[in-house]
Amino acid sequence: MRGAGPFGSGGICAERQALAEIRLQNLHKNFGDFVAVRDIDFTVDDGEFFVMLGPSGCGKTTTLRMIAGLEMPSSGQILIDGEDVTWNRASQRDIAFVFQLFALYPHMTVRRNVSFPLRLAGVPRREVKERTEEIARLLRIEHLLDLGVGGLSAGDRQRVALGRAIVRRAKAFLMDEPLGALDAEFRDVMCEELRLLHDRLRSTTVYVTHDQVEAMAMADRICVMNHAEVLQIGKPAEVYSRPATKFVAGFIGSPSMNFLPIGEAVPQGSKSVIVNGSEIQVPETLEGISHPRGFLGARAEHIVMSDGGALRGTVFGVEYMGARQLVTVDTAAGRLKLRAPNTVRVKDGENVGLDFMTDRLSLFDGDTDLALQTRERR
Ligand code: ATP
Repeated sequence: MRGAGPFGSGGICAERQALAEIRLQNLHKNFGDFVAVRDIDFTVDDGEFFVMLGPSGCGKTTTLRMIAGLEMPSSGQILIDGEDVTWNRASQRDIAFVFQLFALYPHMTVRRNVSFPLRLAGVPRREVKERTEEIARLLRIEHLLDLGVGGLSAGDRQRVALGRAIVRRAKAFLMDEPLGALDAEFRDVMCEELRLLHDRLRSTTVYVTHDQVEAMAMADRICVMNHAEVLQIGKPAEVYSRPATKFVAGFIGSPSMNFLPIGEAVPQGSKSVIVNGSEIQVPETLEGISHPRGFLGARAEHIVMSDGGALRGTVFGVEYMGARQLVTVDTAAGRLKLRAPNTVRVKDGENVGLDFMTDRLSLFDGDTDLALQTRERR
């Protein structure tokens, strides 16, 4: 799928954008006594689609604004392509910023909106025309070029805003919830288009969202934040299957991971834990939990209904989802959600046994929230 799609070839697409690795070193931001971003350290590789994901208020936008030069850090450094730009003005950084609430110039046509940055930079008229039309082709708004922006749909307005952001061939794109104003169906379409556009341009992109589905669909790597801190950086599959903390495990995935309280210390080298009196096999622990506040984490697709079952419970509800069904089971260890093929017959109120796929399970320390290191999965 990637690499093909609706976007044309040649011109701006064939032309590789300028190199831009973005490095943040111990970046910190206070607003008075309040810490909005705490000692963040990461490198966005040249050409990477890097998504910053986290709940509202965790510091994503503040970090993005510091990269853009719209907010000055309290301490730390920002390097773009090896050059320290920490104290450079936004206009000196050659970075394009796309906000959610895109402000198009209402009195201008689509053409004049898209070409605005080029005209401002004094690009010759013929080149302005060529590049504007090329971007319009890329974003499939060619037929709208000579219309005013007032009557456009939300999606077309978003495309015009994107066109205006990318026409300039900036070193990198920073996007702050650019799809947030769109309805769910159109957001899916734009998600895919944005990713295809990125595969064409290969420009370094830092994309902020609180929507984990968007992040999983688009990112080369996801940076999960909470309370001003980075909790984990990894490929979508890594943060999904090997979450570094209980927060990450709960934030990523729908439904979120099931957590079962362990209720006793877990020594290093354990191969099983006791959950509410039942023994459940787990991957061998390479470190222990010294107190009784640990959690066993299991994704819905890693719990299987069986006649025996390590744990038993009563079916609370069944949601049909086409090929699969999502079954909610109340157990003495709490309410669990599991995915089962739709060929499995199950009904509300039924008593069922549950087994867990040992090598897929995670263990979390209830005090630190951190995932325990376990022996490599088979
Ligand atoms: P959202 O998606 O809601 O914008 P976010 O993760 O992007 O969330 P930020 O906008 O970076 O979060 O804000 C982080 C914290 O810093 C929030 O608690 C916010 O209220 C606070 N904050 C941001 N800007 C300022 C400011 N100029 N003055 C004081 N506090 C601020």
